[in-house]
Amino acid sequence: MTETNNSLQGRHVVVTGAARGIGAAIARSLASQGASLSLMGRRRDALQQLAGTLPGSGHAVVVADVADAESVNAAFAQARAALGPVAILVNNAGQAESAPFHKTSLQLWQQMLAVNLTGTFLCAQAALPDMLQAKWGRIINIASTAGQKGYPYVSGYVAAKHGVVGLTRSLALEVARKGVTVNAVCPGYTETDILRESIANVVAKTGRSQDEAMAEFAAGNPQGRIVQPEEVADAVRWLCGAAAGSINGQSISVSGGEVM
Ligand code: NAP
Repeated sequence: MTETNNSLQGRHVVVTGAARGIGAAIARSLASQGASLSLMGRRRDALQQLAGTLPGSGHAVVVADVADAESVNAAFAQARAALGPVAILVNNAGQAESAPFHKTSLQLWQQMLAVNLTGTFLCAQAALPDMLQAKWGRIINIASTAGQKGYPYVSGYVAAKHGVVGLTRSLALEVARKGVTVNAVCPGYTETDILRESIANVVAKTGRSQDEAMAEFAAGNPQGRIVQPEEVADAVRWLCGAAAGSINGQSISVSGGEVM
């Protein structure tokens, strides 16, 4: 028999980078399905502010830098102490800094890999034992269309997000018979601070207006628009449910058809 109950009632979900943007939209969506959330990120005040607005009660706020192994392990111990074993992990924390390849410093390269790729690795390693013990779990990695195709001037970010897609595929196979699925959600340009910063960067470097820069980002999407964080969150909500149990190792593009 296939499970059909999509409610997240009683499930402990860790969302990294939950304070704003796509992470906050995911937290709102999963809380509305009854999940108990550990909101993980670097800024306690921002996480607490979000927790106060979420449906349901008893959500936990946990401060962590996902690029730091000690910080991640301490954070998962706190999350477990507050809300029990982790059933679902959404690896959402990320940073996207741009630079032409010849100006990409080793420090920028390592930062992109540390936050986007190693952070995903560390959090998955911290959460997986609970899922294996329960013989049920979901790991959802917020990669990017930058994990499915190349873009100029963001080689570190693109390399890291391709790494996230590779990690997703490999781990999905390792846990396929253990009740756990591992998938990536790959947004195209989405209306959050990351995009606002990229637009500011284009304006500063090219002298184009804000509207021109925004139109350029939207033009890459065949639907001619910027994706909304709630659309990404809805794909994550679906992957969390019992009915998505056969979806494993996939990279789902939420990009209006930019990747197909
Ligand atoms: P955002 O608004 O800038 O949010 C990023 C979140 O990640 C923030 O909550 C930030 O926390 C957290 N974060 C960054 N570095 C961290 C670290 N070292 N440890 C813990 N948390 C950290 O960006 P967003 O657009 O919502 O991005 C969310 C995810 O979607 C990222 O993985 C991004 O790559 C991906 N994505 C975004 C787009 C887009 O166009 N927006 C497109 C494709 C993929 P603080 O509040 O502490 O800074």
